[in-house]
Amino acid sequence: MVIYDEHGMIDVLSLLPEELEEQILLMNEKKFRAKQIFEWLHVKRAVSFDEMTNLSVQLRGKLKEKFCLKSLFVSKKLESDTDNTVKYLYRLPDGNHVESVVMEYSYGNTVCVSTQVGCKMGCRFCASTIAGYKRDLTSSEILLQIYESERNSGRKISGVVLMGIGEPMDNFDNVVDFLRLLSCSEGANMSLRHVSVSTCGIVPRIYELAELKLGITLSVSLHASNNKARSEIMPVNNRYDIDELMTACHYYFKVTGRRISFEYALIDGHNDSKEDARELAELLDDFVCHVNIIPVNKIKERNYRSDRRSAYRFQKYLEELGVNATVRRTLGADIDAACGQLRREYEI
Ligand code: SAH
Repeated sequence: MVIYDEHGMIDVLSLLPEELEEQILLMNEKKFRAKQIFEWLHVKRAVSFDEMTNLSVQLRGKLKEKFCLKSLFVSKKLESDTDNTVKYLYRLPDGNHVESVVMEYSYGNTVCVSTQVGCKMGCRFCASTIAGYKRDLTSSEILLQIYESERNSGRKISGVVLMGIGEPMDNFDNVVDFLRLLSCSEGANMSLRHVSVSTCGIVPRIYELAELKLGITLSVSLHASNNKARSEIMPVNNRYDIDELMTACHYYFKVTGRRISFEYALIDGHNDSKEDARELAELLDDFVCHVNIIPVNKIKERNYRSDRRSAYRFQKYLEELGVNATVRRTLGADIDAACGQLRREYEI
């Protein structure tokens, strides 16, 4: 997508190969220049046009007049002493902040990225929404979280989860462009099989996403097995209830053939009983899916709590009912400000 900054410059990192080519042709330059520039940006990770030494000084000058090349600034970096988790607070070009987390797994490093500055969804247990919504991130700002995390940590990133600040399906076009850029063979060339997109359940976008058949894993933040309990903690449930959400998930699986992952933030006394597990098993009865149980992360503004013991108990209930469930591994527990907490502390 062609995105202009406040000075009317085109955000060059947001352009897909064919879009960059179009812009370069408009400048009366040869087509192959677009390929060279794309490679500088997405493979060699140049942070300025002056690094692009196989382009003439004159062309570099022309590029600087037409395009802007964004970068992120590391405002804060927290490194875990217990595992290799690194949490970044990034300052965007306009002064806003977002968070990313690099996590180490046996199969490689995964980065969790933000998709919006803040969030409008209002989930009761989530710090990202408490600090309020400011704006959507551009595709380049989502991508830069990966590039900068890779550069700064010196670690190769092989997987991405869209589970940081924001609701990806509330910033659909930029997120889809980001996924296209990330998986583009001329660029970072990441397989979308290694990418998970998490949503609180914006139903029409789940249908749209299914049609794109991108090969990503869809994670759905379910967190409750009936409408009463879900609406109490997730206002989005008043717009799209559990029935509508499940119908959309069935459709997603039918069209893409990809197993869905359901996130379940366990909250003591709210959604953790044997009856809740039974209701959940019934809901997921005819699904090829997986439930990821997350003991709710305590945030200082709310009194929700849970611990790993309750999570394992709930997992056992589910397994007895034939539902495939895991308890999410806790990484970076010593640096863990729950999702969105770091930005909140920084901006207020
Ligand atoms: N907006 C998207 C993605 C961002 S949040 C979504 O709702 O899915 C990533 C996941 O973390 C979601 O499942 C979200 O519900 C969960 N989450 C947010 N705050 C949490 C907390 N305090 N404890 C446990 N999980 C939390």
